[in-house]
Amino acid sequence: MNGAPRIKGWCPGALRPMMSGDGLIVRVRPPLGRLNPHQVSGIAALATSCGNGIVDLSNRANVQLRGVAAGRYEVLIDGLRALGVIDPDVTVESRRNILVTPFRNAGDANESLAEELASALAATDAPDVSAKFGYAVDAGATPVLQAAPADIRLERGADGNLLVCAGAHRFGKPVTDGEAVSQMLTLARWSLGHGTRMFRVLTGGTALPQGFTVPRQAAAPSPKPGLYPAGALVGMAFGQIDAATLDALANLGALRVTPWRMLLIEGADKLPLHPGLICDPEDPLLRIAACVGAPGCAQAHAGTRAVARNLARYVPAGKTLHVAGCAKGCALPRAASVTLTATAAGFDLIRNATADAAPEQTGLQPNDLPNYLQKALS
Ligand code: SF4
Repeated sequence: MNGAPRIKGWCPGALRPMMSGDGLIVRVRPPLGRLNPHQVSGIAALATSCGNGIVDLSNRANVQLRGVAAGRYEVLIDGLRALGVIDPDVTVESRRNILVTPFRNAGDANESLAEELASALAATDAPDVSAKFGYAVDAGATPVLQAAPADIRLERGADGNLLVCAGAHRFGKPVTDGEAVSQMLTLARWSLGHGTRMFRVLTGGTALPQGFTVPRQAAAPSPKPGLYPAGALVGMAFGQIDAATLDALANLGALRVTPWRMLLIEGADKLPLHPGLICDPEDPLLRIAACVGAPGCAQAHAGTRAVARNLARYVPAGKTLHVAGCAKGCALPRAASVTLTATAAGFDLIRNATADAAPEQTGLQPNDLPNYLQKALS
């Protein structure tokens, strides 16, 4: 055990939980973003026995248990450790922030490179970056993780060769398989040498080191629920799944956690029928992001998810809606077609921007929202 929980106001882990309005948030980073069936059912059981039975999927492909009572935290950590899903200490946990493409084959270069990267990040001389600094191993034929948060990425160029890429910069540096991880760490040290996260270094106007000369490929379209060569991809409203549904999925195979707030059932060749899952790629709930809101988050000015469900029918294909409990906008760090940000006076309506941007309307009450939303989306 690592003693009493360390309560932080940002970026929780399992070994560094965060207090929220409904108890501790304990965020698990499954190795390679994969949970075997035993781990899936074990996490579902722990979510019920130690938390409030709700599991969130984050945009970093983490699994987040909510509503954990402080008195159950150590039991939970012991259980997670027995399942083999947490790190030996908080330093390794905070550095092992690796996204791996869910669209991979077992044992392919994505997995071997991600394992090599995880080992390198556990070494004592690994770059001492912040817990939010992340890596993406996205070395399929076409990248699929470009919209997911990562400071350093590994992708393939159009010629099939590996590229190390810095954040959203348009050019990558060609590397061999053998040097890919060391080049990623070199780039992390370079970012650290400039004092901060990669996007801040680049938006501050600092030029990358030499060698970033190969244009990156455009990302594949954003995945939707359906069948893929790697398995069946299923969604859930707002990326939240209850423990009973998660436990039911354990019967179907191993799960790959995705940054799209969906789960991929490894190797499945049919979509599961379960009321807690979204399998229709045109379900409007997939177009809506909503944080936990009140009362789960102490910073929320209003409930969010009931509001979002009521508005789903007004969000047409091609448009997106973000309902945020406050201007922090945790559920979607990017612009949505419309964002409704709760304030002490009602909801602000913001178009084509993030939750903290200047609103077009302020003080909207829940009954006003359908009309204003339809006008804003028309
Ligand atoms: S956006 Fe605000 S209300 Fe919603 S989870 Fe984040 S901090 Fe809480």
